[in-house]
This record gives sequence, C-alpha cells and structure tokens, in this order.
Amino acid sequence: MSDSLQKRYDKLQNAIQNTVSTFNNAKQNVNLIAVSKTFPASDIKTLYDLGQRNFGENYIQEWCEKYPTLPEDIVWHIIGDIQSNKTRIVAENADWVHTLSRIKIAERLSQARPVHLPKLNVCIEVNISGETQKHGISLDEVIDFAKYVQNLPQLNLRGLMCITANADEITVRSQMQKMQDLFNQMINEDFLIDTLSMGMSNDWKLAIEYGATHIRIGSALFGLRK
Ligand SMILES: *Cc1c(COP(=O)(O)O)cnc(C)c1O
Repeated sequence: MSDSLQKRYDKLQNAIQNTVSTFNNAKQNVNLIAVSKTFPASDIKTLYDLGQRNFGENYIQEWCEKYPTLPEDIVWHIIGDIQSNKTRIVAENADWVHTLSRIKIAERLSQARPVHLPKLNVCIEVNISGETQKHGISLDEVIDFAKYVQNLPQLNLRGLMCITANADEITVRSQMQKMQDLFNQMINEDFLIDTLSMGMSNDWKLAIEYGATHIRIGSALFGLRK
C-alpha cells in the first residue's frame, strides 16, 4: 500500500477493464463505487478530481460530516444499515440506498424523499450467505418484498445487493450464481431492474464474472481501515 491513492485508482480501473474484457462482457458497464467509510473527505476529493463520481458510505453520522464539504454532483450510495431516525437525512441527501431489507425503512424513505428530487434508487439486500449476523432478507422473500417496494411512490427499485461470505472460492461462486439467477429471473418476470451490486476488494473479479453491474471497493483503493 505504498502506492499513492491516484496510482491505486489507475491500477484498479485498468484491472476492472481487463476483467470485463476477459469475461467478454464488453457491452456491460461495470460501475465502481469507491467505498470511503473511515477515510477523510480529502481522499474523496482526490478521487473526485480524477473523475470518480460514485462513492459509498456506511455510517450515516460520518457521511453527514463529510458530504456537505464535498462537490454536489457526487453520487452518494448508502451501503450500511439505516436506523429509523436516519431515514430523513438519507432520503433528502443520498442518491442510492443498497441495503433495503425492512418494510418500515422502505416506507419511511419513500415518505421522506422530496418530490422535487428524482426517486431514491434502491437495491434489496439479500442475505446470500445466510449468516445470522448479516443484514438482508433471504432469497425466497425477495420477490414479495420487491413487489411491495415497487409500489412505493418515491422509491425506484433498481436491483439486488449482497455481501458474500468470507469463504472459499467454491462457496463464493455458488452464492454469486444464486444472485445472478435471481436477478435474471426477476428481469424475466418483468421487474424493471438493472443493478446487481456485488463484489468488494477481495471478490470483485468473481463478481464481474457473475454479472455484477456495481462493485463496491474500499480497502483496495483507500488502504486498510483502522
Ligand atoms: C466496507 C464495505 C465495502 C468495501 O469493503 P472492502 O473490502 O474494503 O472493499 C463494500 N460493501 C459494503 C456493504 C461494505 O460495508
């Protein structure tokens, strides 16, 4: 990690391009979300000046201290759990929520999203690893929840999100395959979705192989978190 942030960014972008072309998905656009949690606004600005626009934050309190100091055309992706008392600030200031898994939070976000803004983009978080400490809903609950979310007036259901298990490659592949299958099934069932948010620093190449449209990368870009 002795490289500068700029160097790591350039290398990562090249590696993403190479991975996309290797898997012959050339037509598919893979969006890099730079996960800036625990890192200062100055690091975000460095990447912004290099052209990066999509940033991900987990902790609402920390994000609220950073975003007002940064350019307004940053696209903010909330990728952490949202408590009820934080739904308003998120609905008013974020562009995306990747971690929708509770009806109550979905309703509050829709109610609080100002009508003069575009609808809030949301993904349903799937607990693909089945680990009890992880957030998200189980695979077999996704369709019903998606139907419900689709009808909330100020939310735009864009797709699915997951965090795979920190496990061997065979396990991770099987979880990603299940996500890709469900994503394609929903498209076949006429859900208007286009987003599969999957892949982090240690598994993003596999995620691209399984059709990820958004990869969320923190430590491979900003360095190890304390
Ligand atoms: C922290 C985090 C990331 C980025 O993780 P890295 O392993 O540092 O790339 C991606 N997605 C979610 C939901 C996270 O919480």
